[in-house]
Amino acid sequence: AGFPTMGNRNRMEQDMRRKRAALAGVAALLLASPAMARVCAVSIDSTDQMTFTSKEIRIAADCTQVDLTLRHTGRLAATAMGHNWVLTRTADYQPVAMAGMRGTLADSYLPKNDPRVLAHTKVIGGGETTRVRFPTQRLRKGGDYTFFCSFPGHFAMMKGTLIFN
Ligand code: ZN
Repeated sequence: AGFPTMGNRNRMEQDMRRKRAALAGVAALLLASPAMARVCAVSIDSTDQMTFTSKEIRIAADCTQVDLTLRHTGRLAATAMGHNWVLTRTADYQPVAMAGMRGTLADSYLPKNDPRVLAHTKVIGGGETTRVRFPTQRLRKGGDYTFFCSFPGHFAMMKGTLIFN
């Protein structure tokens, strides 16, 4: 035994390079695999009657991302009957909604950079549509989550349950 000869060292380096290339290939496959990344699309409508059209949104446990579409099927402007879709833990929903009442339309009637806000759309008016995509990594399976509209005065009526399981 002794120091590897120049030939041995080259062979070892080539071997390392091959192994690294093989690992990179596996990582790329995993990222591309549909089993690893599943975007689940859900949609909900909102109205001039200050309502959401569903009280419950179900997200399957294998969804890695949620792509939520919010439509406003009414005619009233965002300043009069604006709606957004905000997701928090149920325990945080009322405090966040109350804090949002002091916010502005530009801030989606939400406290700025609040970690309690798990996802939200902007506020829209009649005839408009908006979307938000967020990772389910932020959610715990079987956790207790509430979605609501943070436009001042709407959260008591415009709310529902999000189920991730
Ligand atoms: Zn609203």
